[in-house]
Amino acid sequence: MDLNTAVAALRFVGPIYARRLEKLGIYSIKDLLYHFPFRYDDLSHLSPIADTVDGELVTIQGNIWQIKNLRTRAGKFMTTAVVNDGSASIDAVWFNQPYLTKTLKTNIKVNLSGKVGLFKGRLSLVSPDFEVIKEGSGSIHTARLVPIYPETYGVSSKWLRSRIKPLLDSFSGELKEFLPEQIVETNKLIPRNVALRQIHFPNNLSESNEARQRFSFEEMFVIQLRALIKKNEWQKQKVGLKFKVNQKDIDNFTASLPFELTNSQKKVNQEILGDLIKSSPMNRLLEGDVGSGKTVVAALAIYLCYLNGYKSALMAPTEILAKQHYQTLDRLLSGLGMKILLQTGSTKMIRKESKFDCAVGTHALLTEKLNLNDLGLIVIDEQHRFGVEQRAILRSRGKPAHFLTMTATPIPRTMALTIFGDLDLSVIDEMPKGRKIIKTYLVPPEKRDSSYRFIKEHVKNGEQVFIIAPFIEPSETLSTIRAVNTEYKRLSEEVFEDLKIGLLHGKLKSKEKDDILKRFRDREFDILVSTPVVEVGIDIPGATIMMIEGADRFGLAQIHQLRGRVGRNDLESFCLLFTDNPSPEILSRLKLLERLQIGMGIAEADLHFRGPGDVYGIVQSGLPNLKIASFNDVGLINDTHKSAQAFLEKENDLTNFPNLELELTDLNQKIAPD
Ligand code: ADP
Ligand code: MG
Repeated sequence: MDLNTAVAALRFVGPIYARRLEKLGIYSIKDLLYHFPFRYDDLSHLSPIADTVDGELVTIQGNIWQIKNLRTRAGKFMTTAVVNDGSASIDAVWFNQPYLTKTLKTNIKVNLSGKVGLFKGRLSLVSPDFEVIKEGSGSIHTARLVPIYPETYGVSSKWLRSRIKPLLDSFSGELKEFLPEQIVETNKLIPRNVALRQIHFPNNLSESNEARQRFSFEEMFVIQLRALIKKNEWQKQKVGLKFKVNQKDIDNFTASLPFELTNSQKKVNQEILGDLIKSSPMNRLLEGDVGSGKTVVAALAIYLCYLNGYKSALMAPTEILAKQHYQTLDRLLSGLGMKILLQTGSTKMIRKESKFDCAVGTHALLTEKLNLNDLGLIVIDEQHRFGVEQRAILRSRGKPAHFLTMTATPIPRTMALTIFGDLDLSVIDEMPKGRKIIKTYLVPPEKRDSSYRFIKEHVKNGEQVFIIAPFIEPSETLSTIRAVNTEYKRLSEEVFEDLKIGLLHGKLKSKEKDDILKRFRDREFDILVSTPVVEVGIDIPGATIMMIEGADRFGLAQIHQLRGRVGRNDLESFCLLFTDNPSPEILSRLKLLERLQIGMGIAEADLHFRGPGDVYGIVQSGLPNLKIASFNDVGLINDTHKSAQAFLEKENDLTNFPNLELELTDLNQKIAPD
């Protein structure tokens, strides 16, 4: 039996509990040991029974003088005991647990924790937690800092404590240190087996803090190490031909644009150029909001690739986006002599002999007869599973190429630098000049009616409105549908009787959804009431107002994406946020949207206020769930980064660190199980 053995194999777990534990993400013995308490009940102080007072929460230790089961008049069981510690006696009572007398017997020493109250006129402990004290072994449920764990149906903290304690005893030999000695020393970490004991059963809070630091470090360190190893491997490759870049060519390209590049775009261009002239291939993630102008940045890289005699490819997730990219690139680059080719499912297959300088298509390009070995640069747009396509492409081709991955998903810098640490990061954090901002207001409840008047006036001018109905569950459930239906009915009957209102939710068939969106676009409706989970994919150029109910239930980044649905014309556009939640923290969080307009800043605020969950919600995949470390802990991120880097500079590989290698394999399994 080792750490990777399934918990079901443990005699004191068995298959039924094993199934329950899966709900907590616990499969192996290691998972169980790494199921950390999220807090401790402080029951560390033993009170002399003589000093206990009515209403107080106490832990006492004494001998059972008397214990018996009684029947109440209602026919229920009641267990009563008298416990004495030499200073005084106290009564204890439990209800409907007659089997207690199998464990608790006269002359046994016990700890009892609970609230002192009056029962039948005497000071008593009513339904206290108890623990039988055996000489020579410490208590785990009482008279200490008692760990409280994430629980699930049928798995209580008490159950977990009773299982984890013996595991700690029998597996302490197995819990080998996997962090390199040097790193443990430099970062003043406590050893792994000590940390495990201290996180579950600390003698005081500083012991549990030491343990938390240790586990946060190891968790983040392994993530960083994985990324840096991948990055090193990538950089060991050599491109066939280093690009040569003339400033004249760049000037030529920028001069041909109908606008001036933003400073952000210029900065990012320089970062990309710096990569392209190296002998190792570029692997860069370009982050920028929708409309921030990522395509023109990609176009410059594509142009430089062409000038160096290579073909390139741009891949988009959908045919519509591929077509848009094709049009943009064609407009930007055909005047400079390039032939751009559109390749989607509905166009003909590329023939080997097709002449093109840049092929644009969906990810299906990979499976087409495109000779990937001709390519010097591959641009991937809007990728959610970062790295997956790269691996697929690399498997299918012999030679390395430069990779540029573009995304509008705002991933906070600290997350990008760790989880996507194998990619270099460029951020466009500025919108092109003259782009209107969407005026955003957190509207107090008493201004609801005037907001409805505001909406009516805009509709009178021919503008259109989204209303996102109260959002009840994170997924589209029946109650969400009911809520959106009720709101739709209320708005059409009581508020906007004279307006045409459409209704959209996720339970509609996709043909129905498309139809409603098309009718909204064709202005058959003035207002579209919708649930938030419906991604309002298509462009509604006439929409100028986005009204969001129950805004407190959303991450800021989600709201930012919703408000991006308006402002697609030259009219002034608005986002009106409503919430019933009066909490000052929530209000000030939402108010941030009145001034934050760039996705990156918003994602960072989300991370700060609500933790990575919301960001995960958007990024969907490729992210491990952090158990204990935090993406907000910049100090930890820097320390682990430095340590991982220093380690890899000294060590060529992990052959001398088999335990560390196992941890990495584990993480790889979790992140990319393919
Ligand atoms: P995204 O980052 O969402 O891919 P696009 O590259 O599609 O954004 O750019 C959105 C629009 O902005 C395009 O019409 C593009 O021509 C225009 N654009 C890009 N850069 C600038 C700029 N610096 N000034 C003005 N307009 C720009
Ligand atoms: Mg784009």
